[in-house]
Amino acid sequence: MPGGWIVVTSTEKIFNWARSSSIWPVTFGLACCAIEMMATFASRFDVERLGMVPWASPRHSDLMIISGTVTIKMAPMLQRIYEQMPDPKWALSMGSCANSGGPFRHGYHVVKGVDRVIPVDVYVPGCPPPPESLLNGLLLLQDQVSHFRRTGRRAPPSPKVD
Ligand code: SF4
Repeated sequence: MPGGWIVVTSTEKIFNWARSSSIWPVTFGLACCAIEMMATFASRFDVERLGMVPWASPRHSDLMIISGTVTIKMAPMLQRIYEQMPDPKWALSMGSCANSGGPFRHGYHVVKGVDRVIPVDVYVPGCPPPPESLLNGLLLLQDQVSHFRRTGRRAPPSPKVD
């Protein structure tokens, strides 16, 4: 159909915008960073305006925010919850502990970075990262989701900084 490609392209753009603007993170907190995550999702920062709704079921979520220290004891549970999420799914590592073990990295009981357990798409530095940093990480993630929907390939993870 002459000009049909314009309709298809525009429709795809609308779908991509809708998908990257309806990311549902599974409610999951590990340590002190989770307090900042909760503040980010509260009324002052209002992440819901970006279409993100915390959801209490991994089966209906497409994002895991790892907010806190990952212990060796907790790692298998974290991995299981991640595996219960449907594809395509995303992971955001929030704070020094999740990124690399943070102040506890020399502890015998701490995983030296959650990327040793599950693949990570965005790293947010800080101890703890303030809500503004997490918001920035979520916007980076939206770009990654749009890239994946557009190209069918995942963008490389954001730089890992403690
Ligand atoms: S990075 Fe800092 S604030 Fe976050 S969980 Fe570790 S010690 Fe707590």
